[in-house]
Amino acid sequence: MKIRTFPRGIHPPEFKEWTAESAIESLPASDKIMIPLLQHFGAAAQPLVKKGDEVTLGQKVGEGKALFSASVHSSVSGKVLSVDDYNHPGGNPVAAVTISNDGEDRLFPENEGVKDPFSLSPDEIRQRVRDAGVVGLGGAAFPTAVKLSPPKDKPIDTIVINGCECEPMLTADYRLMLESPEDILKGAELARIATGAERIIVGIEDNKKKAFELIQEKIQGIQGEVALLKTKYPQGAEKNLIYALLKREVPRGGLPFDVGIVVQNVGTAKAIWEAVNDGKPLYERAITVSGNGIEKPKNILVRVGTPFQNVIEFCGGLDERADILVMGGPMMGISQWSLDTPVIKGTSGILAWTSPAACVEYPCIRCSRCVEHCPNGLVPTQLAKYVRFDDLAEAEKWGILDCVECGCCQYICPSRIPLVHWMRLGKNKIASLKRKKSA
Ligand code: SF4
Ligand code: SF4
Repeated sequence: MKIRTFPRGIHPPEFKEWTAESAIESLPASDKIMIPLLQHFGAAAQPLVKKGDEVTLGQKVGEGKALFSASVHSSVSGKVLSVDDYNHPGGNPVAAVTISNDGEDRLFPENEGVKDPFSLSPDEIRQRVRDAGVVGLGGAAFPTAVKLSPPKDKPIDTIVINGCECEPMLTADYRLMLESPEDILKGAELARIATGAERIIVGIEDNKKKAFELIQEKIQGIQGEVALLKTKYPQGAEKNLIYALLKREVPRGGLPFDVGIVVQNVGTAKAIWEAVNDGKPLYERAITVSGNGIEKPKNILVRVGTPFQNVIEFCGGLDERADILVMGGPMMGISQWSLDTPVIKGTSGILAWTSPAACVEYPCIRCSRCVEHCPNGLVPTQLAKYVRFDDLAEAEKWGILDCVECGCCQYICPSRIPLVHWMRLGKNKIASLKRKKSA
């Protein structure tokens, strides 16, 4: 079988063996949960509840009113303690609905399933996905209903289901493919109907052969195929995945829509199925808890709003030498500073490890390794220099906005230059200048 891939990229150690064989376990709901009103790309949801209100499991507690927004739902039944700023894994405090769990899991009665989800119209599918607050579960948390609404002048021919999970240590998507392949494929089929696409392609890296074989067996009868991809980071980044599978290049500043494609992660496909078929809002998700700083690495199904502390305790606690805590994967994850921070929809993993010897930064030796490995064909050393000297116009001309912050350049740099920091800083400064100009 042909194994497909994209140019450049890197091969970091995988460490997936720590959890790959661990079936997803359910974490009991915690006594108190915090539901941030912003846990997706776009605008925050507007609160629908206030202190003292009684809520039920799956009840909408925040309405995503803007186009780029998503509603949020309670992951327990109980009483609202406050609607106030709270820790957020993104770094800055965000308004959150804090709920005291009554332990009864009383279901919100209006979340009903449908008899034949495949007979729904594209609009009906999108509405049910929007009502359920589904967002991309690969980490970016882009509102899924928006992704399922391609502009009229951009016809979609292919739904790509992303089963790469190329970040080291993470294995929750792998487990989902082994444990719920039918739900993933039914969600993919609903995404195909919603976008009017002709076919589905599921892309899986060749370090997940068991999942590949199972999905290949289950996909019979659906307009789709499964493709094997080389294990390489960042194989799962949308542009790289599209190129590897279909040799189409998403233009600079463009979206997969521009080349007739919509990409959904395997967890998102499952969430689409549950939203449409069962009327189930996205109030829980599968995550990997791993790293040499976690006593018992596991894959778990966790309710949104659960404090990291409870997740880590369920996994045996932190090794006393652990000094780095990250939400997401080790390459693109966000460092955390508090165990009170709640799990959000974009939490693909919680990792803890011991830091290596102190990192000293040396001057650039112009070895060009960062250029040779950047999957987007950028020149990181030059971009970092432009940002350092505040020449943002030149940085933009050299394509800094196409940087996906994958971290390949920084990983490979022998001088340990924090290249991703410079990319982020440059992109943020350019975005802020643009906002000021348009105000
Ligand atoms: S972080 Fe940006 S510049 Fe560096 S390799 Fe990734 S895409 Fe290229
Ligand atoms: S990899 Fe590091 S040292 Fe080499 S050219 Fe890039 S920035 Fe300079």
